[in-house]
Amino acid sequence: MDAERTELAGADILVEDGRIAALGGGGPGDRAGWESIDAAGCVVTPALVNTHHHLFQTLTRAVPACQDALLFAWLGALYPVWARMRPEDIFVSAQLGLAELALSGCGTSADHLYLYPDGVRLEDTIEAAATIGLRFHATRGAMSVGESAGGLPPDRLVEREADIIEDCIRVVDAFHDRSDGAMVRVGIAPCSPFSVSRELMRDAALLAGDKEVRLHTHLAENAEDVAFSLETFGCRPGDYAESLGWVGDHVWHAHCVELDAREIALFARTGTGVAHCPSSNCRLGSGVAPLRAMRDAGIAVGLGVDGSASNDSGSLLPEARQAMLMQRARLGADAMGAREALEIATLGGARILGRAGEIGSIEVGKRADLAIWDVSGLAAAGAWDPVAALVLCGPFTVRDLFVEGRPVVRDGRLTTVDPVALAETARRRVARLAS
Ligand SMILES: [Zn+2]
Repeated sequence: MDAERTELAGADILVEDGRIAALGGGGPGDRAGWESIDAAGCVVTPALVNTHHHLFQTLTRAVPACQDALLFAWLGALYPVWARMRPEDIFVSAQLGLAELALSGCGTSADHLYLYPDGVRLEDTIEAAATIGLRFHATRGAMSVGESAGGLPPDRLVEREADIIEDCIRVVDAFHDRSDGAMVRVGIAPCSPFSVSRELMRDAALLAGDKEVRLHTHLAENAEDVAFSLETFGCRPGDYAESLGWVGDHVWHAHCVELDAREIALFARTGTGVAHCPSSNCRLGSGVAPLRAMRDAGIAVGLGVDGSASNDSGSLLPEARQAMLMQRARLGADAMGAREALEIATLGGARILGRAGEIGSIEVGKRADLAIWDVSGLAAAGAWDPVAALVLCGPFTVRDLFVEGRPVVRDGRLTTVDPVALAETARRRVARLAS
């Protein structure tokens, strides 16, 4: 899955020091001490890249009051539960979400943590990612406009804007790793135009420019969101973003379901990226994002599972299928192919996280982030094209996942955490939240 979408059959991949050192035939030979992994009957892809998630939501999946609500009502029902989360909840919820992503072949994930109740800190998610072994782009989210000031979240969940900026500086300075192959990077991510002020959006953009880190938020998610923008700011979401410094090749916006043709042109012209979250958009009835038009305009688009309160699965490969199917449902069977969906899931995501030079394709010199899919079993039996089968057939769990050359999944099992114990811990924490 390089820029030319080269596919090699029967090839070997030599991994050394966390990088892809060689590619082609011949194998490693008889070098002593080298581990050899037989991937016969498998497809090897770049590890997938998830560009939008709220890992704290994994403990609030399938909540009865929120199963059938539109975005704003859905948020209103969940805020009171999230307000009672503790640092241990955030840590466990993040482990759970990242473990699920790993099993779906994802090697790198962004996360958007925008609420900080009861001593919660961004490092609760960063530490969780280290225990699972995924490459992690933590973003310091925030909400500052509560109900009493005309915002959507309850006042107890919002922070003072000066405190938010101060903590953004703290976490960038403490955790943002600029080195090649970095396992942790940090971005700045006020939650959405309907939960922070114009001033915070502007200041966040200025800070991201000063610190040379990436900017992320939710934009134009559904019709309610656009109506809020028109009523409150007197302009469409794209104009609002542009006026506050929220376009550019260091910016990516989640959803963008309601971008119009002018906004698509703006994003394309400025290099602004989009995290497309097809299942979440279906789940919340938000609509079908103009993915085909965005891609045709040259916008960098990656996939996002979105938070597990609005999916409620956290598996990434099915999002590639869902993205493809939704475009076909709207535009016809030739609107998007399986290979394009895989490209969006890998290289597309790498581009909008600023990592296209390191991950997203299997090329010599890139990091050894590899997903090995066994297509010899029932799920793909009968398939004539094993690569397309990853998207057209399934569901699949990854056989092996390597991140920076290190095994995270082997033979379909996580190597880094015990999934049974993790699920049990999650069950206990959910019982407290539910009570
Ligand atoms: Zn989201």
